[in-house]
Amino acid sequence: MAWRCSGSTNAALINNLAVNGLINSERVKQAMMGVDRAHYAPAQPYEDSPQPIGFSATISAPHMHANACESLLPFLHPGAKVLDIGSGSGYLTHVLAELVKPGGTVVGVDHIQGLVDMTNKNMRKSQEGRDLLDSGTVRFVKADGRKGWAQGGPYDCIHVGAAAAEHHQALVDQLKAPGRLFVPVEESYLQHIYVVDKKEDGRVEKKKMYGVRYVPLTDAPPE
Ligand code: SAH
Repeated sequence: MAWRCSGSTNAALINNLAVNGLINSERVKQAMMGVDRAHYAPAQPYEDSPQPIGFSATISAPHMHANACESLLPFLHPGAKVLDIGSGSGYLTHVLAELVKPGGTVVGVDHIQGLVDMTNKNMRKSQEGRDLLDSGTVRFVKADGRKGWAQGGPYDCIHVGAAAAEHHQALVDQLKAPGRLFVPVEESYLQHIYVVDKKEDGRVEKKKMYGVRYVPLTDAPPE
């Protein structure tokens, strides 16, 4: 996929993703156009592939970010509350914030302080990012994402950017009804994306989507 969808600029990358059917929503396309991936990926930012960001973490491939946004899109309306677990580089947190403006909030959670510091620095590279931080639209916290971030909930939707070893009930508990969770889950050495919907009446419906390879959601490394 990378050979087809990469580009020499952010706009070229996003256009190629759209032309090749990896972005179908105009709202997602515009949100990704508005966030320069070079502020978040230290090398080869316009490749459609994951890139190392230090601390054994990676920024996910642009087509995965696009798919996560499209999957959560019915819950990404102005004013929505969003939780981004395993926020890593902060790129997706920024894109999600663009999709819930005005009035929405996004909390990015990572368990490595160095990455939380880096995400704040990355966001400050653009005027839009600085505005999102200064207005409180986006904040980053250091916490164990397997427990969610109950203080900021309940959420319209939750994105998890690292593979969970199990279906964590705390995350479903922190969803509004209706609400949606996008999470890679590991099962017998394979990982699949699950889209978990909490319906208006509280019923929970899990859909297994497709195979992926993510960094695992783990205990925090010793500091
Ligand atoms: N969405 C991010 C993905 C980063 S990789 C991006 O595209 O940039 C996955 C991230 O999950 C890493 O930053 C890692 O530190 C974080 N992580 C792993 N286990 C975690 C846990 N238990 N709690 C919070 N974050 C965790």
